[in-house]
Amino acid sequence: MDAKLQPADTATEETLDPADWSGVERIARRLVGDAIVHLRDVRQRPAWREMPRDVQSRFREPLPEDSLPLEAVLAAVTDDVMPYPMGNVHPRFWAWYMGSGNLTGAFADFLAAIQGSNLGGGNHAAALVDLQVVDWCKQMVGFPATASGTLTSGGSVANLIGLTVARNAMADIDIRELGVAAAAQPLRFYGSDQIHSCHRKTVEALGLGNRALRRIATGPDFRIDISALTHAIEEDRASGFRPACIIANARSVNTGALDDLEALADLADEQNLWFHVDGCIGALIAIAPRHRSLVAGLHRADSLALDPHKWLHAPFDVGCCLVKNAAAHRGTFATTPEYLESASRGLASGEWLHEYCLQTSRGFRALKVWMALKEHGVNKFGRLIDQNIDQAHYLARLIEAEPNLSLMATTTINIVCFRYDPGGLDEPALKALNTEIMLQLQEDGLAVLSDTTLRGRHCLRAAIGNHRTRCEDIDLLVAEIVRRGKILSDGS
Ligand SMILES: *Cc1c(COP(=O)(O)O)cnc(C)c1O
Repeated sequence: MDAKLQPADTATEETLDPADWSGVERIARRLVGDAIVHLRDVRQRPAWREMPRDVQSRFREPLPEDSLPLEAVLAAVTDDVMPYPMGNVHPRFWAWYMGSGNLTGAFADFLAAIQGSNLGGGNHAAALVDLQVVDWCKQMVGFPATASGTLTSGGSVANLIGLTVARNAMADIDIRELGVAAAAQPLRFYGSDQIHSCHRKTVEALGLGNRALRRIATGPDFRIDISALTHAIEEDRASGFRPACIIANARSVNTGALDDLEALADLADEQNLWFHVDGCIGALIAIAPRHRSLVAGLHRADSLALDPHKWLHAPFDVGCCLVKNAAAHRGTFATTPEYLESASRGLASGEWLHEYCLQTSRGFRALKVWMALKEHGVNKFGRLIDQNIDQAHYLARLIEAEPNLSLMATTTINIVCFRYDPGGLDEPALKALNTEIMLQLQEDGLAVLSDTTLRGRHCLRAAIGNHRTRCEDIDLLVAEIVRRGKILSDGS
């Protein structure tokens, strides 16, 4: 044989595949068994716990150079990772706003990694699952089938995608070619003073600057003041700016207030502005049978961000941006002209999904949404949203009935802002007392709440977006806050 055609030394060829498949299968069975028990018994474990120092120190060990048996790696996960989660799958986790995951979604993440497809696009099953999940998202919020969409890492990126399309569509120049600096009239975006922090990151990343996002005052109900918004738009137009986009809050972060979507859609029509809805939580209320009227007008958005890893409980992470004008969407990100079909047959003949977003390679995150929706059906997810909203109102009623607790904002959907207030304490003392209660609840593993400041007043905040929560958990929360509040304020 010609020496040049000799294969490389086959004895030293390596792969990452296991040398012993049956041994690995035994390990995998135990892993799945342990994982199921972990989830089954989540209620028996603390909602959160501090990591001991020696556990923390193991995460500072240097880069491993040589191999370790898989069993030893899994033992490290069992000992050092699994016992110290963020806690959002626990039934008494109500901090910020998060989904609580689901077992089928976890299976899906495993299978997606095993199947291993890259969702940059192409003609294969994972791409069709991805497109179907986007279609199902359209159906959930009443968007037309002709709309486009893309699955993202989360709501922040979904908002970034939508607002990038808005910027390009509303500019008076070809912004892709010339950049924002070439625009004669600087663009202006509008949202309420309750808007999520991701919008600030977006306008900064889009080169518009933070000041291009005007924060409009909200009324006592924390909803955007429409006449103040109209005034701001007219004022900007008169001063040489180019009003481009209204960002509606379909549920605000602080209090759960929902902007008046119909009125904002009307105003965007009148003023010829792009209408973007940040529906990272609220958009999915559209599937909740008893509360869907709260988000009437959602379908009028030009672009909409929603978050399947919140109220669809997909394991992190997955968000979705929908855009009504598919050509404007593709025109913002595509680098290949539409007429240039990559191939008429074979793998490259499928749709190039990367033409609708910033990523090129993308994970198969669609599968966890697809499998859970198929298993449970959209109606069950809708009922779970109703259940959370009912639980939040139940908590609000318990607070109202308790003399030492005060409700700090109206509970519209699933967010309850309140504080322990025994009377006679000033703002700093109330803040210290309530912060201490919040930290004790966390450190004792009892419940996880977050806090916020509403019009200068500090308060605790429970965001109930958890399919494992029961009313008894809420009873326990109130009892423990009152008990701890009494001990702390009597002792002070
Ligand atoms: C959660 C949230 C976001 C950000 O979404 P991520 O998935 O965390 O990136 C944006 N807007 C609102 C209203 C949210 O609640």
